[in-house]
Amino acid sequence: MQVYKFGGASVKDAQSVRNVFSILEKTEKKDILIVISAMGKTTNALEEVVESYFKDKNSSEQSLQKVKDFHYTIIDELFKDKNHPVYWKIDGLFGEITSFIDRNKSPQHSFVYDQIVGFGELLSTTIISHYLNDKGIRNIWLDGRNLVRTNSNYREAEIDWEETKRNICDSIKPSLMYITQGFIGSDSNYFTTTLGREGSDYSAAIFAYCLQAESVTIWKDVAGVLNADPRYFKQTRLLEKIPYQEAIELAFYGASVIHPKTLQPLQKMEIPLNVRSFLNPEAKGSSVCKINELTPKIACYIRKQNQHLLSLSSLDFSFIGEENIGFIFNLLATYQIKVSLLQNSAISFNICIEDKFKNLHFLLEKLREKFKVECIENVILYTIRHSSNEDSFEFLDDQKEILLEQFALNTLQKIVRE
Ligand code: ADP
Ligand code: ASP
Ligand code: MG
Repeated sequence: MQVYKFGGASVKDAQSVRNVFSILEKTEKKDILIVISAMGKTTNALEEVVESYFKDKNSSEQSLQKVKDFHYTIIDELFKDKNHPVYWKIDGLFGEITSFIDRNKSPQHSFVYDQIVGFGELLSTTIISHYLNDKGIRNIWLDGRNLVRTNSNYREAEIDWEETKRNICDSIKPSLMYITQGFIGSDSNYFTTTLGREGSDYSAAIFAYCLQAESVTIWKDVAGVLNADPRYFKQTRLLEKIPYQEAIELAFYGASVIHPKTLQPLQKMEIPLNVRSFLNPEAKGSSVCKINELTPKIACYIRKQNQHLLSLSSLDFSFIGEENIGFIFNLLATYQIKVSLLQNSAISFNICIEDKFKNLHFLLEKLREKFKVECIENVILYTIRHSSNEDSFEFLDDQKEILLEQFALNTLQKIVRE
């Protein structure tokens, strides 16, 4: 089987859904599992529903209305028959969100988040599955929550591989086409869980791993994996062939075209990952596979934002030794804060961190009990992979203040305040 993944940008409106149909129409194979994200910016819009729910339960109706309007506009364009069953299916899904909001008693933010935000993918796959079936591309819609089993670590759930594999292999028969959701799973109590923002690439890899798929193709709004994000860098070039190791590094440093967790399961099974453009489906794109060298071997530039730079030093000029470092990392793990870079000397310890769960102030409070702590919020981490001596950060203009530099293993990094 092959696994295809269509992200939010590729299904952002009715025209994009028609484009998905035309991509599938041209593929000869029918044994494809298609993983789809929420349409356009739906996940952000559902996050707003969650925020308004916690501010004032009654105000969430207004933000939910925006999500409804967006989806019904798309359905109205795609289905001419106003009695089409897709309408009552979508009405049903919105009804489930409303009844969850009315009945929920849990004060736990991450739990509520997953129960509401997970509907983005259920809506998109329901619409697209119906549309494709109507257009003659026969497919079976699967509820990914019955397949992807996770723990109850809401918003960043971890996979129970054994059970997930069993569920997937029991439900999917090669030779048919299936449509399912990215990003979501469920825990042992059948509550919806999510795998982390932008996690649908990872979902595609989970399905591919469990099915021992032939390949995964993720359809993006770019030509493939480029040597820099075209939103921030000019004159980017396509990376045609990328070793797994290299792709893992690029994703880790912040090349957001591939979710960082995607590569590990694929690499284990040696399943190639193709990154192709849904705007130019004839083009080959990039392939991440088992090879030794990046082709072409050129410097890659990565910009990672929403970082914070912490500089810690001991209160009494003593060394920051193993015990202290252990203490710091325990706190980071407790608050689910990720480290993007670190640099230490005898009495100082600098870490660049990413705080997805908004726990920075708790971390700072704890650290300040033991260390002198300086924190610069909202810095940007620039990385150049395969940097030769001639490479420079000439693209950083003089206005930008460089806070820290590091060069190791052909990788040059700068933390910058803009
Ligand atoms: P999806 O529609 O699957 O959610 P994303 O928006 O997450 O897709 O990923 C595509 C985007 O990734 C591109 O529009 C581009 O701006 C960004 N991007 C970041 N780094 C790179 C890179 N090295 N190569 C290509 N695109 C990149
Ligand atoms: N819809 C989710 C998000 O926007 C997952 C994904 O698109 O990959 O984060
Ligand atoms: Mg995305």
